[in-house]
Amino acid sequence: MKELEKLFENNRAWAEKRLEQDPEVFRRLSKKQSPKYLWIGCSDSRIPANEVLGLEPGEIFVHRNVANIVPHTDVNCLSVLQYGVDYLGIEHIIVCGHYGCGGALAAMENEQYGLVDNWLRNLRDVYYREKEALDAISDPEEKAHRFVELNVLYQVMNVCHTTIVQNAWAKNKKLTVHGWVYDISTGLLKDLNCSISSLDQIDKSYRTLKLH
Ligand SMILES: [Zn+2]
Repeated sequence: MKELEKLFENNRAWAEKRLEQDPEVFRRLSKKQSPKYLWIGCSDSRIPANEVLGLEPGEIFVHRNVANIVPHTDVNCLSVLQYGVDYLGIEHIIVCGHYGCGGALAAMENEQYGLVDNWLRNLRDVYYREKEALDAISDPEEKAHRFVELNVLYQVMNVCHTTIVQNAWAKNKKLTVHGWVYDISTGLLKDLNCSISSLDQIDKSYRTLKLH
């Protein structure tokens, strides 16, 4: 268990360092959190949300799953969204995919990986809907990159199609949903410029409220 002991050592060193920099940090954080951002990202170990954004504990609320998917039936993801929007006062929801996503690559293959195939079915649906555009890209890497970007766009829409986000807009809460991609080969983020911040930007079929 040497390997795990090392983790506790790391933790003690980290906590000490943090206290040196800011003696009140943990006392303050133990009272409340008021993050402005919600990050919906991939579980991939190479994309630690706080670190890539240079944010401190308490500054970002995080939900991660395989391939950053927001299914309308996933109580886990929806609960994070609802709590974040209704109680924490989240102002920006960031759906962030990443190039080289194992989930996305698996969903492009005719192979099985077990239970996870059922989860990745959400991605296969994206591929099927965008088949024409994707199959027109001959370079495999470029095609995989585009698939990752399209998945982000679909998940941004899925966030916007929830009653949680639409109710927040109806109450005139400031809330914007963004789609980004992280490049693991450079460490840099790319904005897909697909931000949505009001009900009128949503297709009528998915509006659960009337426009005023
Ligand atoms: Zn991934």
